[in-house]
Amino acid sequence: MIKPRYEGYCDSEPTKLVREKFGNTNVYGQIAKSLLTKATGFIAAYDFTLNPYRGCQYGCSYCYAAAFSPNNKMRQDWGNWVIFKENSEEILAKELHKWYKHNPQIPPRIYMSSVTDPYQPFESKYQLTRRLLEVMLDVRNDGHPTPTLVIQTRSPIITRDIDYLQRFQRLRINMSIPTGSESVRKDFEPRSPSIKARLNAIYIIKKSIDSTKGFVPRISITITPLLPTFINDEADFIDRLVIADRVVIQDFHPSHSSSLIASTRQEVITIKQKYAWWYDSEKSSYIKFKEKLISRLPHVDIKEGKDGFGYD
Ligand code: SF4
Repeated sequence: MIKPRYEGYCDSEPTKLVREKFGNTNVYGQIAKSLLTKATGFIAAYDFTLNPYRGCQYGCSYCYAAAFSPNNKMRQDWGNWVIFKENSEEILAKELHKWYKHNPQIPPRIYMSSVTDPYQPFESKYQLTRRLLEVMLDVRNDGHPTPTLVIQTRSPIITRDIDYLQRFQRLRINMSIPTGSESVRKDFEPRSPSIKARLNAIYIIKKSIDSTKGFVPRISITITPLLPTFINDEADFIDRLVIADRVVIQDFHPSHSSSLIASTRQEVITIKQKYAWWYDSEKSSYIKFKEKLISRLPHVDIKEGKDGFGYD
């Protein structure tokens, strides 16, 4: 047994290392009191956020969620630890039961996830997100509509759950693809899946869902934050986005000195310097890219920031 790196990071909650390592990741289990959290900020249109995990193995350089790490050491080591709630299914079932008791025919609007990727690599083994989808689908057995669900991910692992996804009456999948250039992706988010793998995952989902047998999900590509795309890749990338019914663009979250506010990580500032051709005139780069999206994708809804994150 490898000595847990963050042992005792949070004395008030029972926490233990449940795996020595998953790849390079320290994995912890925790007993939760709640799972659904009231949605605020850019996703205030939802009733709840649902984060199956805390921490994220993708460890993107710009990730604002690192600000919500349990302590400074874990904030600095963002990407190398994951906490999951061992009693998640039981808690979610209780919380949904409580919702439907007061709103039997009104589905809760749930955004999964705001501070983690529900399909990060650990999910392939642990299958927590899959089990939570099952809990959400179970409500139909009691005559309730399934939750309105938005899944935010950058992972092709989502295709594993197509059998469940097609049973949601109102589902939107937000596939995050912040750049059309692989070399840019490798600089800003080196551990994440390739652009090709993400687009292919959406293609597989669209091809696999039979509208006569299930519900067809809505698809967004979220270019958030909008990262540079080299001119040679631009037209091809944009043309491939026609697979979505919506494309969302957004700037970086602002950086804050306070560790408790959602904030773009400092790590990204160094990487941005490599892309001076884009960031020296960031506003104009953003506007030009947006104009190209509008002109090349006339049948796709192009949205910006908060407006793009709703279900409808
Ligand atoms: S995948 Fe999302 S939650 Fe995970 S590190 Fe990247 S931006 Fe953060």
